[in-house]
Amino acid sequence: MAGLFQKVLIANRGEIALRIQRACRDMGIPSVAVHSTADAQAMHVRLADESVCIGPPAARESYLNAASILSAAIVTGADAIHPGYGFLAENAEFAEMVEAHGLTFIGPSPAHIRMMGDKIAAKAAMATLGVPLVPGSDGEVTRIEQARAVAARIGYPVLIKAAAGGGGRGMKVAHDAEGLEEAWRVARAEARAAFGNEAVYVEKYLDRPRHIELQVFADATGNVVHFGERDCSLQRRHQKLLEEAGSPALTAEARARLGTTATAALARLGYRNAGTLEFLYQDGQFAFIEMNTRLQVEHPVTEMLCGIDLVREQIRIAAGETLGYGQEDIAFSGHAIECRINAEDPENFTPTPGLVEAYHAPGGLGVRVDSALYAGYKVPPFYDSLVAKLIVHGPTRAQAIARLARSLAEFAVIGIKTTLPLHQRIVADQRFQAGDYDIHWLERFVAGT
Ligand code: ADP
Repeated sequence: MAGLFQKVLIANRGEIALRIQRACRDMGIPSVAVHSTADAQAMHVRLADESVCIGPPAARESYLNAASILSAAIVTGADAIHPGYGFLAENAEFAEMVEAHGLTFIGPSPAHIRMMGDKIAAKAAMATLGVPLVPGSDGEVTRIEQARAVAARIGYPVLIKAAAGGGGRGMKVAHDAEGLEEAWRVARAEARAAFGNEAVYVEKYLDRPRHIELQVFADATGNVVHFGERDCSLQRRHQKLLEEAGSPALTAEARARLGTTATAALARLGYRNAGTLEFLYQDGQFAFIEMNTRLQVEHPVTEMLCGIDLVREQIRIAAGETLGYGQEDIAFSGHAIECRINAEDPENFTPTPGLVEAYHAPGGLGVRVDSALYAGYKVPPFYDSLVAKLIVHGPTRAQAIARLARSLAEFAVIGIKTTLPLHQRIVADQRFQAGDYDIHWLERFVAGT
């Protein structure tokens, strides 16, 4: 594998930087870590072959500082950049800048990143490619009267969504005509503040869907495969907390239909590298909501299910290799579940940065922990609160759940509060164990209603 790239710069931090560093090392490719001044003692830096400080703590001056990251790549002799997730991962200008300097961006083409970064354009493209959508406005809605007319046609409740939205922000529900004006105003204001773009559209607000997403991969020769679905219905404030592969809700027929529709669409699009198509699934129907043009936080459940290293595949394809296998060669085995463990108070979800006094990660067969934590590490207050991912695999869903409960009980993060106790409660719940939940369930579970 060495020889694909001279050196890969990893433009990220924490667990995902470590995850990418491990894939590079397994492939014999040297890598460079970058870090802010707040992250000088971070594990992704301590374990790095080489590291470069790219700026002060504020992300916009370090991990979002394209010029600083590109300079770090050039001075260290890196010829490729892996962006991870978040930060610059879905920034088309950054991908263009990387390529303009003769380096390889490990991801899709800037044109596809740009297209899917605008949810209105993404929906329009998917509709053309024969992918079913959530009913809603035909493109952007620029006037409140237009939103009213769409809502009257599709029926309340409706969702006002930001075209540039992400991380569950810029999204407001209107339950009736009276609530529409407020939702319209707040969604646009939030979109303007968070994304600098107030364009919004209207969608039917589904009352009990599951969030089902499909992991796809494509090479430059037009070979497109998928690595199965993930069920990410357990969410709070539209943010995923626990993910499963496969979904406990899909029949073999629905699963096959999803795979065929999505891979055919991406082949026609000429997509390359890793991508995830997100759908809402209700009453046996899939409806596309958005596509993510990057590695996802929850990618390990797919890796556990298929026994494949998705980061390695990203690197190989970016270097111009072909997949070298077809859909029929991909085997799915057992069941996998991931818990996102955040440095947050499990009661009220306020962030809990601070000193980790002691740390013990679970282990054993079928247990994986992706984390950059260690005893003596001080979780900085500047970044995302995700500090560990616990991923388990078992021959059946029931065995995976048993392994998850056991692993959560072994997991010790002392000194700061984390969401570990919340995961313990979810996993012990009968509804979760039965696989009987939709995207609204966790919110009610947390509220105790
Ligand atoms: P983001 O890019 O902010 O993650 P998404 O469009 O992916 O936004 O939506 C995030 C989550 O919000 C979904 O997983 C789902 O739980 C909820 N959601 C989005 N669209 C709808 C809808 N039309 N009806 C009900 N829930 C929705």
